[in-house]
Amino acid sequence: MSAPLLEILAATRNQGKMKELTRALSGLPLGLRSLSEFPQVPPLEEEGETFAENARSKALQAARATGLPALADDSGLVVPVLDGAPGVRSARFAGPQASDEENIRLLLERMKDAGDRGAWFQCALCLADPDGKILWEGEGRCGGIILEEPRGRGGFGYDPVFFYPPGRVTFAEMDPEEKERVSHRGEAVRAFRAALERGIPGLGGGR
Ligand code: IMP
Repeated sequence: MSAPLLEILAATRNQGKMKELTRALSGLPLGLRSLSEFPQVPPLEEEGETFAENARSKALQAARATGLPALADDSGLVVPVLDGAPGVRSARFAGPQASDEENIRLLLERMKDAGDRGAWFQCALCLADPDGKILWEGEGRCGGIILEEPRGRGGFGYDPVFFYPPGRVTFAEMDPEEKERVSHRGEAVRAFRAALERGIPGLGGGR
């Protein structure tokens, strides 16, 4: 007898993230739903001071609103010489509606005299159930160097200025599969997959 299909909601309306998640979780007996299927759910608020807090809050909001266990992520770029900025404000570093180009320009401006150009991307993931229980949490990181000028046309966000030393390229110069193998989000999602395979206590089918 085959196991009942487990439904999980990916708490995002971002198609790129959906595609990445679907690929990373392929082959598991899992029905992955998207928040796009629930237009009545308002945009998820993220007002926390850490990636983990934001992931937790979004997972709880989405699970409560849909009645499904929900997986949420929060990610961003951390630059130690800027005291951790842009951090949880990565998407809105240069203002509430800032474009990727504006955010990059501000980052390069703030770093123009920086001796240490080290940085990392960080991703927190959280699975919550509709009763308000956190079922699983994990994270991933990827270290690199912020270049003085953008390079490459792929990716999104800060990818064109994020140089990944082992590959000698920026994230914007990698193809999506290659980036996923080494990125913060890739690492976090692989940890989630491993947890699902072991069985997450409290999740349907888990022990
Ligand atoms: P969120 O997790 O979708 O809220 O992402 C927050 C912001 O962090 C994005 O808008 C980007 O500016 C930045 N960011 C997160 N992950 C990446 C990445 O893989 N490449 C480039 N920028 C990223």
